[in-house]
Amino acid sequence: MRIAAAVLVEPGDLRVEEVELAAPRRDEVLVRLRGSGICRSDLSLLDGKWPAPLPMVLGHEGAGTIAAVGAGVDPARVGEPVVLTFTPACGRCRFCLQGRVNLCTTAARCMNDGVLPDGTTRLARGGEPLHHLALVSSFATHAVVPANGAIPVPPELDPAVACLLGCGVLTGVMAVTRRASVRPGDSVAVLACGGVGLAAVLGAALVSAHPVIAVDPVASKRELALRLGATHTVDPSAEDPVAAIRRIVAEGVDHAFEAIGIPAVAEQALAATRTGGTTVLIGQPAIGVSASVPVYELTQFEHDVLGTHIGGATPALDVPVLAALAVAGKLDLAPLVTTRFRLDEIGAAIDATRSGTAGRVVLDLA
Ligand SMILES: [Zn+2]
Ligand SMILES: [Zn+2]
Repeated sequence: MRIAAAVLVEPGDLRVEEVELAAPRRDEVLVRLRGSGICRSDLSLLDGKWPAPLPMVLGHEGAGTIAAVGAGVDPARVGEPVVLTFTPACGRCRFCLQGRVNLCTTAARCMNDGVLPDGTTRLARGGEPLHHLALVSSFATHAVVPANGAIPVPPELDPAVACLLGCGVLTGVMAVTRRASVRPGDSVAVLACGGVGLAAVLGAALVSAHPVIAVDPVASKRELALRLGATHTVDPSAEDPVAAIRRIVAEGVDHAFEAIGIPAVAEQALAATRTGGTTVLIGQPAIGVSASVPVYELTQFEHDVLGTHIGGATPALDVPVLAALAVAGKLDLAPLVTTRFRLDEIGAAIDATRSGTAGRVVLDLA
């Protein structure tokens, strides 16, 4: 079939084009996409900061409805509302067997090679193979994905909001609840309040962390953080954020989350963490970027530094849980989506994401 998709032809050159999408094969499904978030990882690929096989259809935070199934997939799934994941469990690799599905080596291979698990692509452009981004490629009207990468969610959820469960919300919430195991009453600081940072604020509020300190230079994001459960905000452009956090919690916070991937912010997160506390690095910079760590403090004060990929989530397990919390009104996702664009407005949507003034920018593909 012919579909519309945003194709990254080479770094900096993203075009909405008509491309070919082949039918789903065994254990795959065709999804009519309804919404796709734009994540900073898409910008890293667009800017050539991360290597990728090109050309490629970008987008890795999608939701939609199953339109057709391949062999071996229950035909009753047609019509099912789903959120797509870039780490379906292969169930066979070391990490899947350990329950660390977010580190699945099969998913990593598919991501590196831009292919589906059988090593080929369903996308083509002018007869030449067109690569998938991370088993998702959601900047498009349709996608063919592994059947176990399309996770069922309740129909009540707006797909232009539900799509965030595929990456940003899953990452931010699970970084708090799974990776850092934040408990009620633990103090939390979230440094940078884009889509992922705001989701970390939501996660901190969900588990009754207190206080929850949101740090961001953009006033509208600080206001949004307060609405989502932050108890305090800090403007790092007006004052030293570490001193400001330590004014609120003198000994430093139990858990500090870095959610933008800037080394200086990671160092602030480290400096704002208390003795015996945990600093969680969520934001991803370009490959090869380093931050310095205070080795004496880390050893003397048993200070943990955790990296996290998707918050340590098992998407097939955790996406439905977060979706149920959203439907129940316990996880308020709608305010995270601050701007919506059509697929043919992808350039403006990318600019809005890059501006850093928005929460999550979403492509409305309905
Ligand atoms: Zn992402
Ligand atoms: Zn695996």
